[in-house]
Amino acid sequence: MHTVISLPDLRSSLRSLRSGSGDGALRHSGTVGLVPTMGYLHDGHLSLIRRARDECDHVLVSIFVNPTQFGPTEDLSRYPRDLERDLRLIEPLEVDLVWTPTAESMYPQGYQTWVEVEAVTRPLEGAMRPGHFRGVTTVVAKLFNAVQPDKAYFGQKDAQQAAVIRQMTRDLSYPIEIVVCPIVREPDGLAMSSRNVYLHGEQRKAATVLYRALSRAKEAYENGEREAETLRQVMKDVIASEPLAQMQYVSCADYDTLEELETATGRTLLSMAVFVGKTRLIDNFVLG
Ligand code: AMP
Repeated sequence: MHTVISLPDLRSSLRSLRSGSGDGALRHSGTVGLVPTMGYLHDGHLSLIRRARDECDHVLVSIFVNPTQFGPTEDLSRYPRDLERDLRLIEPLEVDLVWTPTAESMYPQGYQTWVEVEAVTRPLEGAMRPGHFRGVTTVVAKLFNAVQPDKAYFGQKDAQQAAVIRQMTRDLSYPIEIVVCPIVREPDGLAMSSRNVYLHGEQRKAATVLYRALSRAKEAYENGEREAETLRQVMKDVIASEPLAQMQYVSCADYDTLEELETATGRTLLSMAVFVGKTRLIDNFVLG
């Protein structure tokens, strides 16, 4: 496993990987899978890496806490970071290349170019976190341009992000297959997240409320309930029953457009954002 920081080093390592000989003579021998992360890795990230390892000849993991996707009141400065630990976790997974760019190299002085996706970024996370998706799409476009992978791996945990990246990939004609992997959960149902380290004691227990609320709504759906407002209410009631939880939104939306539904007939995304103390958690289920 090789770790690179600068863009020239990334390019020369990719050339070696693709040529198989280091001289760059044979372009693109073997497929490259990219797994973009912000580090502080857990089993959710590792599941993406394993999937990439299964499906691609070469696997590249990027670790970059992207400042432009954090709002001014969000947790950029305290976002957990531990590169040594991350590299230890990646080591057994036979990753070819780890890229850890610096913020200064990604956004040098005078930086002024942004990638913006429209409608699908507006509701849900986009409404609660203005500017978030502009940061996400810009950094992912930069990663795609630098690595030129054949496949890129994202988690269903960030359902709207996956929809936004699919849209951007189509719209900008990137020849990249977007692979979305299932949510990896703790035994009690809490979706794994780097931010779970913020949760202590009672808060950690209360954090299962997202899974409980989604499960209750799914149960209603499986018993024949299709009224989207009823499914939203089922989730709201479960969240309201947890004293340490504060709902930010619940949604029952179309899986692709993320528009709120009246009736849950096609592929449906149940999703929510909930504060437990100061920690903001998101989770979702796909129905249909
Ligand atoms: P992050 O480091 O939080 O930006 O996440 C990097 C990638 O891992 C994103 O595509 C996430 O959706 C994905 N991911 C995060 N948590 C999970 C999880 N619990 N299960 C599956 N994928 C996840």
